[in-house]
Amino acid sequence: MKTSTTKPAASRPSRASRSRGPSARELIFGDLWEFDPAPETADPHIRSSYGLFINGKFSPARKGGSFPSISPGNEKKLTYLALADATDVDAAYSAASKAYEKVWSKLPGNERGKFLYRIARLLQDRAREFAVAESLDGGKPIKESRDFDVPTAAAHFFYHAGWADKLDHLAPGRQVAPYGVVGQVIPWNFPLLMLAWKIAPALAAGNCIVIKPAETTSITALKLCEVFQEAGLPPGVVNVVTGAGETGAAVMSHPLASKVAFTGSTEVGKAIMRSLAGTGKKMTMELGGKAANIVFEDAPLGQAVEGIINGIFFNQGHVCCAGSRLLVQESIADDMLTRLKLRMQSLRVGDPLDKNTDIGAINSKEQLTRISELVKSGVAEGAELYQTPCRLPSKGFYFPPSIFSKVTQSHRIAREEIFGPVLSILTFRTPEEAIEKANNTAYGLSAGVWTDKGSRILKMASQLKAGVVWANTYNKFDPSSPFGGYKESGFGREGGRQGLLDYCKLL
Ligand code: NAD
Repeated sequence: MKTSTTKPAASRPSRASRSRGPSARELIFGDLWEFDPAPETADPHIRSSYGLFINGKFSPARKGGSFPSISPGNEKKLTYLALADATDVDAAYSAASKAYEKVWSKLPGNERGKFLYRIARLLQDRAREFAVAESLDGGKPIKESRDFDVPTAAAHFFYHAGWADKLDHLAPGRQVAPYGVVGQVIPWNFPLLMLAWKIAPALAAGNCIVIKPAETTSITALKLCEVFQEAGLPPGVVNVVTGAGETGAAVMSHPLASKVAFTGSTEVGKAIMRSLAGTGKKMTMELGGKAANIVFEDAPLGQAVEGIINGIFFNQGHVCCAGSRLLVQESIADDMLTRLKLRMQSLRVGDPLDKNTDIGAINSKEQLTRISELVKSGVAEGAELYQTPCRLPSKGFYFPPSIFSKVTQSHRIAREEIFGPVLSILTFRTPEEAIEKANNTAYGLSAGVWTDKGSRILKMASQLKAGVVWANTYNKFDPSSPFGGYKESGFGREGGRQGLLDYCKLL
């Protein structure tokens, strides 16, 4: 069934062009066929307004400020969020400090672990509701929030629950202790998952928390506060304040924060580091990326195509480790471009709540403007743009899946993080050239290597300057596996023993 609320994003290929080359063997329905809508209908239980979560209770901001939160999928208002200023942040830190001194620091690890297990199980119980809330609020396809974000967030709580009473084994030969109160700020691309990455290890290690979610995606953080209440987490152990950059700066700079953890852009991360220099606060920074996904001519190409598509179009490309620079060996470059264009034609862009949607809404109008601007620069600088022939909803923020060929290292689209569904393709001839091009970036978060040769995988992995290197796969995450970068992608790790150690003092 076709809907009348759509507009073409780009002209569709003619039937003749669709039947050329390898595409003739594929089922591309184009205009001939449309799926019926398959919306997820579970009630996300979003309140009409949310207060700040301080000392175990929701309360309005002291000065009464609030701001609306809209759904990027249809631009409808979802709720109002309290706007925390420095006095609210101060109240949150007082509550966290009191909870640490009086309750949390006195609990043995196995008791802390019980709370984490409870949170994980309650999150699983309410998984469907959380998935709908996440997709409505952030724009990601329901199949991703349902099958990835929510289960992986629960897995982080389970994993760290297991660690809570085993901290003596965290750093063999050394004793560890919590920092006390930690301040955390997170971005909008994986709102619930980033929250779990921050909260679970900090609590397992014995810290109390003041955390600020991103201003466009705070709903699942506040819903998780309901879970904390249900789990009986002592008041003040986790405090959630909502607001934008100013609120975030107050969270990062508060004198009671012994350690701060930030995930977001490199630009803001640098500003925070400058402002905190000399304060003695411990820091971890999880910042931007511009990953190279490198495909050699001996790679299983069909599998690589799936990895490339997932690497750049997962979560609309709003992924710090997105494989946004594809480096293809020259001998297979034309073949790879044909295969990618073909595969892109079957990606469905649209309503985030539709179970058939592969690519949902861009998170905000500002982000859509930034993506559009960078894509224009790619065209102006001489790269060749291909946009998939899809129809975009007329309301909401959408961008068609895009790939650029004929990209050179100097193009902005090869250097800057686009944080959208846009792939830049470059070529190489030798492994040495691939390594040089892959490392020619200010970032160092992640990379991918596709080849049939195990020895080449090991060589590439040791020479690529990236915190995570995936081989013959991409975007694989596990709570036991540390994630993080170096160079301008930041420092510190999240996940695994290393991530937990970042929330502990070594005695
Ligand atoms: P952003 O830096 O604009 O904002 C991130 C968070 O910081 C938000 O909550 C924001 O309100 C807050 N903030 C803004 N100004 C602040 C200030 N001066 N002081 C303190 N807090 C402030 O980033 P974004 O646009 O929300 O997120 C996208 C960026 O995050 C991308 O660069 C992406 O690569 C990065 N990211 C990195 C990782 C990682 O693990 N390395 C994971 C996810 C996202």
